[in-house]
Amino acid sequence: MTVKTLLSEDRLPTRWYNIAPDMPAGSLKPPLNPATGEPVGPDALAPLFPMSIIMQEVSTDRYVDIPEEVQEIYKLWRPTPLIRAMRLEKALDTPAKIFFKYEGVSPAGSHKPNTAVPQAYYNREAGIRRIATETGAGQWGSSMALATQMFGMECTVYMVKISYQQKPYRRSMMEVWGAEVLASPTDRTNSGRAILEQDPESLGSLGIAISEASEDAATHDDCNYSLGSVLNHVLMHQTVIGEECRQQMEMAGVYPDIVIGCIGGGSNYAGLAFPFMRDRLAGERNTEFLAAEPSSCPTVTKGSYTYDYGDTLCSTPLFMMHTLGHDFIPPGIHAGGLRYHAMAPLISALVDQGLMSAVAYGQTEIFDAGVRFARAEGIIPAPESSHAIKAAIDKALECREKGEEKVILFNLSGHGHFDMSAYDQYLSGKLSDYAYPEEKIRESMAKIPKI
Ligand SMILES: *Cc1c(COP(=O)(O)O)cnc(C)c1O
Repeated sequence: MTVKTLLSEDRLPTRWYNIAPDMPAGSLKPPLNPATGEPVGPDALAPLFPMSIIMQEVSTDRYVDIPEEVQEIYKLWRPTPLIRAMRLEKALDTPAKIFFKYEGVSPAGSHKPNTAVPQAYYNREAGIRRIATETGAGQWGSSMALATQMFGMECTVYMVKISYQQKPYRRSMMEVWGAEVLASPTDRTNSGRAILEQDPESLGSLGIAISEASEDAATHDDCNYSLGSVLNHVLMHQTVIGEECRQQMEMAGVYPDIVIGCIGGGSNYAGLAFPFMRDRLAGERNTEFLAAEPSSCPTVTKGSYTYDYGDTLCSTPLFMMHTLGHDFIPPGIHAGGLRYHAMAPLISALVDQGLMSAVAYGQTEIFDAGVRFARAEGIIPAPESSHAIKAAIDKALECREKGEEKVILFNLSGHGHFDMSAYDQYLSGKLSDYAYPEEKIRESMAKIPKI
């Protein structure tokens, strides 16, 4: 068996998979208008997104063609490799077979360009000249900077202040690709000014940055907003990962027993998992689906499944999802991409239906796992991805205990080359674990709207 499986270009996916029509009947609840409690129509999103993307958001077509221009750009780094982690298997002395799909080979170093590119494309087609967006760890902002540059558009990135300070090279990267990068909260938007008035020292959060970017888009005609995770169309664009991976696993002659990924908003995991979930929903397989999140932002393992806002300033419709409360601001952990108060409605519904489950890990144990992986397989993982690695290692050790030869597949969503200061802290023993912020979560949960 080959250790690394690649697809030839002529077998690259030409369509994305939309899981919505295959979801169990009644499991998807519509977004609601907070003022009326009624479902919002596509028009509600029109100030922010082009109609082509809004139609994807509500689409019930099982497959959507990938535009040719987007396919051409995907080919700059796709197909991404499917790698069997034989050295890790050996280090763990496990009978399990561990495979990972490596999305860190994209120019921005993560899975995020898979959706940034089509989002920029559809906006350019609709005559939009500039994209305003937010970024946590800087992965999404750099992906959008890359994508807008490729389509000759401008890009304004509201970067969560703690990351702006911790990850100066992510900012430089965005600037190389021509974006303007602002530390959020800024004094440029009403949302940013409102936060700064309450707390001039605010380190920001994804929720605040989303409020700022969406306000920028809503108040400028030639500018649209763009979101890097959570929404249905984003998860659908990411299924290019799983569609490729299914073919690669077939070439390797295996099918996963367990599909693992980290979840911040849910997009990289959905991207890998949904094409396999399709088989489970069709009753053809009984695959286990497991997602890993930080214990300091335990959206799925400790949050409620209920209607809540997608942003801190309550400017979005209400979505039915797992949430810790829209004004919950997680501690400044190094896995910045996993610091979001809520979870994609599609992922939340699958958890609610018992089709997938989640596990939460502390910061030190995920760095243990990341370093262990780097020493076996060479690749230095992003702290976000190390949550998936930790879950895969735990499953592989369970297999060792039970003598089971399961096939474990996980998504290595990105590399950690811009996270070396976090690795430094870990290696010098200065990395601390945050206690589960129970009190803060209780406070923010009390403010979830009552429907
Ligand atoms: C953004 C990011 C994540 C988390 O986002 P999802 O939408 O849950 O995928 C995970 N890994 C990496 C490398 C990221 O950049």
